[in-house]
Amino acid sequence: MYHLECIECRRKYRANEVIYTCTCGGLLDIVYDYSKIHITANDLKAPLSVWKYRALLPVSREPVSLKEGGTPLYRVDRVAESVGLKKVYVKHEGMNPTGSFKDRGMTVGVTKALELGMRTVACASTGNTSASLAVYGARAGIPAVVLLPSGKVALGKLAQALMHGAKVLSIKGNFDDALKLVRDLCDSEGFYLLNSVNPYRLEGQKTIAFEIADQLGWQAPDRIVLPVGNAGNITAIYKGFMELRHLGIIDSVPKMTGIQAEGASPVVRAIKNNEPAITPEEKPETVATAIRIGNPVNAIKALTAIRESGGTAETVSDAEIIQAQHELASLEGIGVEPASASSIAGLRKLVRMGVVEKDETVVCVTTGHLLKDSEHVLAVCPKPIEIDATIEAVKKAVFSDKQ
Ligand SMILES: *Cc1c(COP(=O)(O)O)cnc(C)c1O
Ligand SMILES: [Zn+2]
Repeated sequence: MYHLECIECRRKYRANEVIYTCTCGGLLDIVYDYSKIHITANDLKAPLSVWKYRALLPVSREPVSLKEGGTPLYRVDRVAESVGLKKVYVKHEGMNPTGSFKDRGMTVGVTKALELGMRTVACASTGNTSASLAVYGARAGIPAVVLLPSGKVALGKLAQALMHGAKVLSIKGNFDDALKLVRDLCDSEGFYLLNSVNPYRLEGQKTIAFEIADQLGWQAPDRIVLPVGNAGNITAIYKGFMELRHLGIIDSVPKMTGIQAEGASPVVRAIKNNEPAITPEEKPETVATAIRIGNPVNAIKALTAIRESGGTAETVSDAEIIQAQHELASLEGIGVEPASASSIAGLRKLVRMGVVEKDETVVCVTTGHLLKDSEHVLAVCPKPIEIDATIEAVKKAVFSDKQ
């Protein structure tokens, strides 16, 4: 039904081979025999969830699941008005079991690990991947090892990885260093690597596209805007829409629009300079720690997704990210972490630049939950007003214009 295939040299590998990249160094993709998959919109009437679409997922055993996916698609008219558009939606991936979209990849990836007979799972992470791997490892009953960049992981994410029982290693280096180390560790120890270089993870994440189309009545929006770190998610969502079009379920594919922070923007530079590959950044820096990545592993796939779909890529400053985070939280009641808010910040900038047209229907993917990074929230919000325990003091404070 499916096999692994190198996106560079087209070499094929059997689906049960434990391999993450081609011998030529190229990234792998899961390729299906679509002539054997018969699925119509009518078959897809069950409630939303990742496993609703299992006909398009590359695993056969009982899934390791905590009911991931099925996240809300909110229409956000106040934000739309504020950025200058008519129809904007937010796909809030922070509503997954561990608070980020990584769960979609991990439910498939950890299920695959069991199917392949692997006994330990491992990843490098800016935080959310480690939280998700710790949780799904616990659910599967197998050990998880996670490598994190020391001092650069939001506290909520670290707390999850620790509480769910992963072996947590804090690396004196950045994410890119941690990824190099964990790849060596997996090769030498036979641990199963669950970073987004593993194509099975991206298969789980492509269900974001299935759900968006599903929630819009089997239509694709004109544009998807999302943060780009390691560039796996933009690749996965593009693939999901391409599959739906291939199967005749939708008839167009949205313009894939990737947003990066100014201090970590190799994909944006490659798009703007029309280069075939990215140039890695040595010292990526941004408040949005989930996209603080200088050498995105899936960059080649992401550049293709952006170019083939007629999309684009843009940078935003940390100040713009924080402003968008406040706006989404206070105007719409949607709490997201900084990386996620970059989608809204990027959309605003692209409308201002005239790149996004006024009548486009846009879906912003908010990738992680506000509570992941409460230290940052406390740093950028006003302090609570401390008062005496009297009704006079309460009234005075309620009607004061402080805060
Ligand atoms: C992982 C992550 C991203 C980046 O996704 P990539 O697939 O690495 O591009 C963005 N936002 C949040 C909250 C994440 O956890
Ligand atoms: Zn190859």
